[in-house]
Amino acid sequence: MMTQYLALKREAGECLLFYRMGDFFELFFDDAREAARILDIALTTRGEHGGAPIPMCGVPVHAAESYLARLIRAGCRLAIAEQVETPEAAKRRGGSKALVARDIVRFVTAGTLTEEALLEPRRANVLAAVCEVRGAIGIAACDISTGRMELEDCAPEMLGAALARLGPTEVVAPEGWEQAPDDAIARPAAGFASDAGEAKLKDLHGVATLDGFGQFGRAMLAAAGGLLAYLDHVGRGRMPLLLPPVARAPAQTMAMDEATRASLEVLAASQGGRKGSLIDAIDRCVTGAGARALAEDLSAPLTDLAAIQARLALVSWLHDDPLLRGDLRTVLRALPDIGRALGRVVAGRGSPRDLGQIRDGLAEARRVRDHLAQREDRPALLDALMPALGGHGALTDLYTRALVPSPPTTRDQGGYIAEGYDAALDALRQTSGHARRAIAALEAKYRAETGIAALKIRHNGVLGYFVEVPARAADALMAPESGFTHRQTMAGAVRFNALALHEEASRIAESGGHALAAEEAHFEELVAHAVAAREAIALTATALARIDVAAGQAERAAEGRWALPHVVDAPCLAITGGRHPVVEAALAETRGGGAQRFVANDCTLSPEDRLWLIGGPNMGGKSTFLRQNALIVLLAQAGGFVPADSATVGLVDRLFSRVGASDNLARGRSTFMVEMVETAAILAQATERSFVILDEVGRGTSTYDGLALAWAVVEAVHETNRCRCLFATHYHELTRLAETCDALSLHHVRAREWKGDLVLLHELAEGPADKSYGLAVARLAGVPPAVVKRARAVLDKLEKGRAATGGLAAGLDDLPLFAAAAAAEEEQCDELRERLKALDVDALSPREALDELYRLKREADPG
Ligand code: ADP
Repeated sequence: MMTQYLALKREAGECLLFYRMGDFFELFFDDAREAARILDIALTTRGEHGGAPIPMCGVPVHAAESYLARLIRAGCRLAIAEQVETPEAAKRRGGSKALVARDIVRFVTAGTLTEEALLEPRRANVLAAVCEVRGAIGIAACDISTGRMELEDCAPEMLGAALARLGPTEVVAPEGWEQAPDDAIARPAAGFASDAGEAKLKDLHGVATLDGFGQFGRAMLAAAGGLLAYLDHVGRGRMPLLLPPVARAPAQTMAMDEATRASLEVLAASQGGRKGSLIDAIDRCVTGAGARALAEDLSAPLTDLAAIQARLALVSWLHDDPLLRGDLRTVLRALPDIGRALGRVVAGRGSPRDLGQIRDGLAEARRVRDHLAQREDRPALLDALMPALGGHGALTDLYTRALVPSPPTTRDQGGYIAEGYDAALDALRQTSGHARRAIAALEAKYRAETGIAALKIRHNGVLGYFVEVPARAADALMAPESGFTHRQTMAGAVRFNALALHEEASRIAESGGHALAAEEAHFEELVAHAVAAREAIALTATALARIDVAAGQAERAAEGRWALPHVVDAPCLAITGGRHPVVEAALAETRGGGAQRFVANDCTLSPEDRLWLIGGPNMGGKSTFLRQNALIVLLAQAGGFVPADSATVGLVDRLFSRVGASDNLARGRSTFMVEMVETAAILAQATERSFVILDEVGRGTSTYDGLALAWAVVEAVHETNRCRCLFATHYHELTRLAETCDALSLHHVRAREWKGDLVLLHELAEGPADKSYGLAVARLAGVPPAVVKRARAVLDKLEKGRAATGGLAAGLDDLPLFAAAAAAEEEQCDELRERLKALDVDALSPREALDELYRLKREADPG
């Protein structure tokens, strides 16, 4: 057995091997140690290998799914080795000692799940493959639980952002590729070939060319090749549900990098988990598919004005009609997750219940369509979705006739094919029904014949049907002429067989077996119908999800009195009464114990006034204000209402959000380094169409360094990037920039000292903050009065000293403007370039060349 095990283990590689033995999956050696640790189950031993006992642990087959779920969540990958022949077949093949043949039937990995119990209903489960082809990165991503597949390519430095948008649970990359993402699984590089990828895609979808699906570059196809090769490996040759690939053009969505997503807490809060995230505050979807689509919308807000307006029109229509919205949501709430049911069915892991769900979901979709068809004022997006809601008449009719109303989750007991669907099946069932009734009649007959009132006919898995009498009455039946044959003696009871009973029992067994086989055959056929209609079914699922998203957005808007944003194609932003949806909800929850209301604030940016410098005390509400405006932009472009009284949002191509260092601990690099790397990305990438929020940038280093950097960053954003920007800072000195930067204006969050206490008003006002409130905040936070008093004394000294020298920012007044400084730099470069051009290298002696080099270097870098 160990030889077989070790061969399978070699095949399983790094995956934990689940080795089927009877009613258990067993794990051995290191696999057993790891699984026992993660699952907290007993580690035992079995036999010896190389003179040492073999560690072993096991889980019962019937409960395997919950164990799988825990191992997957702990980051494991698994290989399932099943018995692929019966013990009888093994004996026939190789005698009584023959080992049952086993084979790995499937790999279970985080990115290739379809089981309901292993998936989160409200989250997509994305598997991504990435690779590089001649400097371009190709990304292929799919969610096999619903069949979605998309391909894109990008520059190497954008890989992180692209993966952050997709949020894959598993990534594969070619073996030996140095730029592979850290947690990627290495797969044979040969799979990542563009021609193989193209051929496989064509084959999968039965087309001669992929042109009908979109334009796919070499890198995309190579990644697709790697993805399909991995799926082929994991499914042992059985391809899961994959819909035609969609080519994704990055320009169609608002760019957000990983740091921005994390800092805005779009899908997950900074502590991890959904609670406290944007989506948690927004999501009112009543279906899992709707929630998954909403997550996708928020991950990839649109940049196409018409597409945004189409979404908004649908949300607005549903917003204005609470009755219709309520009706729709009631219907949707009862809807099964047909997308995922289809995923299981196509992957060969479907159950009769999955088919029942597809039937019910499609029938419900038609009802939704009929309901909406009565309306004449349908928005265009809804009109476009209508056809996808119907058109499954033949399939739903077939399934309605073929399946019982609520089919079971397993097939082994049968009973899922409806009566009247197949006359032969009905006849088989009738035969076994007759036999069952005959057996019941036999019991009465035997009692009468033997005079034993306690005689019973019973059934179990080992003996089948048998007659049981109490031990004291058994003697009469033991006699050979009694017509009964002894089978088993138990404590207190004796079991017998009888000829008539045996005949009826075999009739049941035979017809039951035939009936099961007949149902099995029908099941295969019903599955084939779903597989053939998979694209249309998936379209219906997508359409229903889109309606759920829109109805959920409308519901959320009505709940919070949100506004329909006016999205325009101009670099502006005009928000009145803006709120932060998460902070507002958090404040509402704490209400009661010192209730706090969220203070709404306005924000108006235009090309002439595009950079707001925001000062004021810590805890005054600066970060909240910055983020709420970024979130409003994001929500508007995702096609939803926004938490404000009114909002005009000029399209944003890239959204950036950065928080000064000290908040982002626990990452590999020094926090200040991280801050600067992220700031560098903004300065390199932000355009006039971008929106940037910078929160306390420069905080992670010494005061002078920090101030100097913040100063230079503000200037660069103002002069070079020219994007819309909100910049929160506690460096009062920066307010001087208002004198030189004409599109910059000063603002502050208001605070008031009242009877010696600091009152934070969370209200934005124009002009610079009048003073620093650091000490007042410290007192508010409970720093002992003696310490605050001492700090006050130190501060006085510092301020006196600063006044004498002209202040921390003294001397900055004669600093050339940012643009002028850059121009001077450029001029120097030109000069050096000229000098280099003029140099006749061949005419120089080595000594002269060296001297010249030193001279050039001195001029280039006088410091
Ligand atoms: P800062 O960035 O100025 O230090 P924050 O934005 O982090 O301040 O806000 C601190 C706290 O003040 C928040 O956690 C929130 O509880 C409260 N707060 C912020 N803005 C508002 C607001 N507009 N209305 C009510 N409370 C607010």
